[in-house]
Amino acid sequence: MQVHEKLEPILTEVLRRNGGEQEFHQAVREVLESLGRVIAKHPRYADNALIERICEPERQIIFRVPWVDDTGQVQINRGFRVQFNSALGPYKGGIRFHPSVNVGIIKFLGFEQTFKNALTGMPIGGGKGGSDFNPRGRSQGEIMRFCQSFMTELHRHLGEYTDVPAGDIGVGGREIGYMFGQYKRLTNRYEAGVLTGKALFYGGSRARKEATGYGATYFVQRMLGTKGQSFEGKRVVVSGSGNVAIYTMEKVIEFGGKVVACSDSNGFIVDDSGIDLDLVKEIKEVRRARISEYANLKKGTARYVEGGSIWDVACDVAMPSATQNELTGKDARTLVRNGVVAVGEGANMPSTPEAVRIFQDAGVLFAPGKAANAGGVATSALEMQQNASRDSWTFEQTESRLAYIMESIHDRCAETAEEYGAPGDYVLGANIAGFVRVAEAMDALGVI
Ligand code: GLU
Repeated sequence: MQVHEKLEPILTEVLRRNGGEQEFHQAVREVLESLGRVIAKHPRYADNALIERICEPERQIIFRVPWVDDTGQVQINRGFRVQFNSALGPYKGGIRFHPSVNVGIIKFLGFEQTFKNALTGMPIGGGKGGSDFNPRGRSQGEIMRFCQSFMTELHRHLGEYTDVPAGDIGVGGREIGYMFGQYKRLTNRYEAGVLTGKALFYGGSRARKEATGYGATYFVQRMLGTKGQSFEGKRVVVSGSGNVAIYTMEKVIEFGGKVVACSDSNGFIVDDSGIDLDLVKEIKEVRRARISEYANLKKGTARYVEGGSIWDVACDVAMPSATQNELTGKDARTLVRNGVVAVGEGANMPSTPEAVRIFQDAGVLFAPGKAANAGGVATSALEMQQNASRDSWTFEQTESRLAYIMESIHDRCAETAEEYGAPGDYVLGANIAGFVRVAEAMDALGVI
């Protein structure tokens, strides 16, 4: 797709200023492609370098993270926090620990987060952080020392009214606990609202752990509903087996779908009798082991495929919930050939631009991550609300708020797509609805 002629020089300049940051280029290009229709209808959004400002992070912090491993060796990693946009509230977004992390990846994630957070309708800006630290194979002590060192630098940039991180790939409840503990020691403040994704007994929210996966499933259920369909009786493939994938599978099963495959970075499992989720939880959450274990433990019905593509497994609904660009054009063609009717992104930007085009051209319902996976950060905002009021809500109350938020995001995307002459295009709807909310706030706050 081409970008609007007024946006072409902006895109060229963003690509030039951020040379080599492929994922960031991809994310910006997709948003600017959608914005052509906004500029055509409301040219004022192109004034005052508003779009240029939205594409430039407010602040980027890169720091050294030194730590001591179990053999006594000093190791160093690089830490990042990109504080992308605070027009709507304090910067908000997860922290990712993965060897692939670099400034371009964190910028793409922070950029996406800004629009995602705007779509939730809640008072949160956008940010993202992380490190190229690889937690795989590290002991509990090493993880703790790494988290403490990471927070020793990062703490001075955070605050419940400034910047509120949470988890992402490689960062779960355990890591959030270590980071919160270090923040508390360094600041001498029990500032519960400075991090979300905390465990329940020290200020966490019920349903936060489940929220991203549950939310993505609520979104897709509502999207299927626009065609008179539901998850009931559908074959579903969910990539990944982390927090997002596990709770996507749980909700899909509750909605009457049958999950037949999931994966990790080494390979995938197929179980035609329906994935045994308790077993996946035991393997991934308790034993922190590889998904290949599943096939050893469930001989007979399950098989493990090392490498290969999980998208070769035929399904009605695909929920990519692992990582960026995991679903290629080739995978999309296979899925379409096998009759997929809906795709819901649990991860951030898991489908390549070519894959998205193939789904949309084939009339497959396609829910982009910045809308479909917003349930995690929305529930983080609910955690912040509970912390601010020193309250703790029930699971039912929190989940019903989440369900309502996801349905509202769905409807806002669908209505915006309709309003801008592209009914059913959730990519366009999400990009425009998110952009307009951020743009209005930035405009109102003067040149910021
Ligand atoms: N990492 C999640 C995301 O990509 C959650 C962020 C948060 O809760 O702040 O949206």
